[in-house]
Amino acid sequence: MPAPIIFSGIQPTGRKHLGNYIGAIRQYVEGQERGEPAIFCIVDLHAISVAYDPVELRERVYDTAAILLAAGLDPDRCIFFRQSDVREHTELTWLLSAVTAHGDLNRMHQFKEKSARQRELVSAALFYYPVLMAADVLAYRATEVPVGDDQRQHVELMREIAHRFNERFGETLVVPEFRIPEVGARIMDLQEPERKMSTTSPTEAGTVLVLDEPAAIRKKLGSAVTDSGREVRRGPDKAGIANLIDILAVARGISQDEIEREFDGAGYGDFKKAVAEAVVELLAPVRDRYAELRPGEAALDAVLAAGAEKARAIAAVTLADVRERMGYGCG
Ligand code: ATP
Ligand code: MG
Repeated sequence: MPAPIIFSGIQPTGRKHLGNYIGAIRQYVEGQERGEPAIFCIVDLHAISVAYDPVELRERVYDTAAILLAAGLDPDRCIFFRQSDVREHTELTWLLSAVTAHGDLNRMHQFKEKSARQRELVSAALFYYPVLMAADVLAYRATEVPVGDDQRQHVELMREIAHRFNERFGETLVVPEFRIPEVGARIMDLQEPERKMSTTSPTEAGTVLVLDEPAAIRKKLGSAVTDSGREVRRGPDKAGIANLIDILAVARGISQDEIEREFDGAGYGDFKKAVAEAVVELLAPVRDRYAELRPGEAALDAVLAAGAEKARAIAAVTLADVRERMGYGCG
């Protein structure tokens, strides 16, 4: 088996949370060991699909870059860059729209959910960003896309777009596979455990932020919604407890069954305390390292710029092929 080409992106909007860390960031760090290359991107062009402030966007890009580096991304072992620095992404988006079915975009759950939440403008960008996401991945001919469970449908769409492109214009693009973690692919909001923990519609108390102080983490996990039962196990009507089991399993690096065995007969109070301590321990090093890295904006810029150069070199080759196949440029 050849080494995978890994690509994934993360939005710089809002503040990154435990779901992002467990579902995505943790996989990126691991992916650096296997990917040749492993490519990670701050998808700032996606951020404009909902209301945003340009000054704040820049700040959030720094925040997100510092979080990812603090979590263990190493620019010597991966390509780490900002999407808007590599213009091939936007050009490819338009070219791919020729083989993207309007009906497929219409079926995207995230559009339905996110558009329903918009108060002012439901932008065309919100409808269309899955095509940009397809371009992000296909530009690198990535074979593997580490994501959380909520991105399954978008990855299926990009596979369909790649297939259709190859059928229409000849074998050019690689059809990527998604990689979704076995445990922790969908961390739920602590206050509304039927809903995923999310950047754009967080409940304050239900969202553990990567940068939360230990006291805040303890408070949020201590008041996590559970159920009227007493058993620490997964099961119907136990979304809150099941979520906490997943979190603890990931934080300790053991199975959910082991967690259930360990807390057999324990009360919810003790269990929640154990989860809180494990999460504090998981995130504390990231938070400390972030505090060191975040002030160095020039250094962050330099890392992203160097990454963009490497990314562009790969994306430009794909774009040249795509353009040629589609009848652009000199023959
Ligand atoms: P938004 O709600 O605005 O889409 P988000 O919280 O999903 O924001 P993104 O930057 O879109 O954040 O997602 C980055 C990565 O984190 C994606 O791979 C996504 O699948 C993953 N992810 C997001 N939320 C969760 C979650 N609750 N559990 C596990 N993985 C998640
Ligand atoms: Mg998302």
